[in-house]
Amino acid sequence: MILCADIGGSFIDFAVVHPDGRTEHRRSVPTPLDNAPAFIGALVALCAPWPDMPLHIAIAGVECPDTGIIRAANIPCVQSLPLAAHLHRETGRAVRIANDADCFALAEAHFGIARGHRNVFGVILGTGIGGGFVLDGRIVPGLGGVTGEWGHAPVVIPPPAPLDQEAAETLVPLFRCGCGISGCLDTIAGARALERLHLWAGGTPQTSRAILEAWQTGDRQAGRTLDIWLSYMGAGLAHVINVTGSTIVPVAGGLSNAHALVDALDEAVRARILTTTSGPLLKRAALGADAGLLGAACLGLDIRAQE
Ligand SMILES: [Zn+2]
Repeated sequence: MILCADIGGSFIDFAVVHPDGRTEHRRSVPTPLDNAPAFIGALVALCAPWPDMPLHIAIAGVECPDTGIIRAANIPCVQSLPLAAHLHRETGRAVRIANDADCFALAEAHFGIARGHRNVFGVILGTGIGGGFVLDGRIVPGLGGVTGEWGHAPVVIPPPAPLDQEAAETLVPLFRCGCGISGCLDTIAGARALERLHLWAGGTPQTSRAILEAWQTGDRQAGRTLDIWLSYMGAGLAHVINVTGSTIVPVAGGLSNAHALVDALDEAVRARILTTTSGPLLKRAALGADAGLLGAACLGLDIRAQE
């Protein structure tokens, strides 16, 4: 059995997970956001009935592999904290931490839609976008703990030469991203960004869900928004596929509930990659909200396999 926690900006989900993916002793507590002792205390209390077992954590943040320092914009109290070391000091147990999008991809590779695939790039289309890369059943550790963050780095960039005014007005603007850079794919990709893109493209204020519903009924304005969205997203993800050699892309997050959107993005990606495939690359993820916990469990399975 493996102790697992999936820590997001709203809740800490906890479970004891069996190697076959079954879960027991599930608990969910609000995430203390501004009080580090309360945050540590919540995890210590959840694990207390199993004093000698390691804890495996999926977190909405990144752990630096060199220092153990956490970066988690939505959980301020652990920002800049060496969380694993703190928890080890408090409980004596080994603690392993990974990014939750990486854990999602890992879970889908072990237990979900991507079983049997060696190169797996998991995509989250949620409020923002995220991703995780799994190779041969393991997360690929990256520079500063970062891998799979395909939503960040400027891709929506103006051409180097000046344009006349009319041409310039057709360019998607350089929106400022939450990461501090302008023009990231994330500035037009997630649910909130899609709503802003729709406004810029001439639409009225609507939820992403309403925009997607209008698009599926043939609405011209929503069609224009989605043409832009699919063009940028298809290009960005095609680039990822060419670099990672992924043979499957599990897709999760709120926007993936629109099956037609996943299918359209799959078409846009496959039209732009260097190779051809006989079937879809993008497939809706299988594990739903359990992916973080199950991915954390995979971290434990991996350690056992190495022992
Ligand atoms: Zn960004």
